[in-house]
Amino acid sequence: MTPCRVTVLGATGSIGTSTLDVIGRHPERYQVHALTAHRSGEALLALCRRHRPAVAVLDTAADAAWLRGRLAAAGVATEVWSGPDALVAVAEAREVDTVMSAIVGAAGLLPTLAAVKAGKRVLLANKEALVMSGALFMDAVARHGATLLPIDSEHNAIYQCLPIEHRGGLDRHGVTQLLLTASGGPFRGWSQAQLAAVSPEQACAHPNWSMGRKISVDSATLMNKGLELIEACWLFDARPEQIQVVVHPQSVIHSMAAYADGSVLAQLGNPDMRTPIAYGLAWPERVDAGVAALDLFAVARLDFEPADEQRFPCLRLAREAMEAGGTAPAVLNAANEVAVEAFLAGQLGFTAIAELVARVRDTLPVTPAEDLETILEADTLARRAAQARLALP
Ligand code: NAD
Ligand code: MG
Repeated sequence: MTPCRVTVLGATGSIGTSTLDVIGRHPERYQVHALTAHRSGEALLALCRRHRPAVAVLDTAADAAWLRGRLAAAGVATEVWSGPDALVAVAEAREVDTVMSAIVGAAGLLPTLAAVKAGKRVLLANKEALVMSGALFMDAVARHGATLLPIDSEHNAIYQCLPIEHRGGLDRHGVTQLLLTASGGPFRGWSQAQLAAVSPEQACAHPNWSMGRKISVDSATLMNKGLELIEACWLFDARPEQIQVVVHPQSVIHSMAAYADGSVLAQLGNPDMRTPIAYGLAWPERVDAGVAALDLFAVARLDFEPADEQRFPCLRLAREAMEAGGTAPAVLNAANEVAVEAFLAGQLGFTAIAELVARVRDTLPVTPAEDLETILEADTLARRAAQARLALP
């Protein structure tokens, strides 16, 4: 069979390297067309030597020139491009069948949309893109015949628990509720005073998953679960009240779908992103992901509890943004990106992340998100408002 040609956006990240690990296990099935990274030239060089893509992309022309020189010296015939337009070009390239969208944050929106509009199979890890542009994004998927497969473990689990054709609202398929599981992050059960003193290092040490720094902080504040709630509404045509967040500290059940007849379907597995990634790459087939079989005797027990929205207000802020609709989720996302960056830089306390997001939300109007310009404008205004708040003494 002809191998499937893949572009990996955000190849040097946590999801990117896991994707290349799965691809590397099946050289007869997958061939890498392009790999992209922001600034990590050394890491991208190593990946190019191993996977020999046709194209590699870095952010700046200077970094690209450096990589070009190193690749030439190593005898690797990869072309090197730079800048946001190059990301779009490798996402929509005619040679490409599948695009892994694994850039972190709003930077992933334009290349991911480009892949959708080119009708690719899009493996969506970059939840921020969908949170920002929900209606527009899903519309483009339908209009351009793209195949959208969720890689976020929860959404991948729900996807596996729903009927193959699940468009048109959950009710039509007898689904009464989606149960979105959450590990609860590293600070489950911590007091308000303890939370106020959390350091970036503590926030990035997740108990069950090893991830990039931004999503690690989001997991600790529960903003990640909030973004996932919005993501689930768009992916599965669900209303916010049809989604129940269930804290499940073992992270063995990756999420569930409850049906009208009382059935609850769950997807279980070790917490390793290579499982949903392999699912997306091979769908509707199944391939080895390099993940050990689940040992239920070692797991021994599964616990569940409700999420605490008092101590972790980001979850409530996200639900409210989804209910408000329009540009509200894009504003929430942008304010959160600025707040998380400031927290990681030691400029903002952990509990101040939610406060900053709420402040920005309160100062900006919600408008209908009918086109991309409106969404990008809301993103810019929210970033500016958040920066202005941060600059206050
Ligand atoms: P990461 O920080 O490890 O990697 C991010 C990648 O994006 C890197 O290759 C980086 O070079 C690139 N990048 C960063 N900023 C960029 C920019 N401005 N322009 C172009 N490229 C840029 O992040 P990650 O943990 O792999 O997460 C990637 C995405 O997947 C996020 O949206 C995250 O929410 C989602 N996700 C991650 C996990 C996980 O387990 N890591 C699970 C579910 C969803
Ligand atoms: Mg997730």
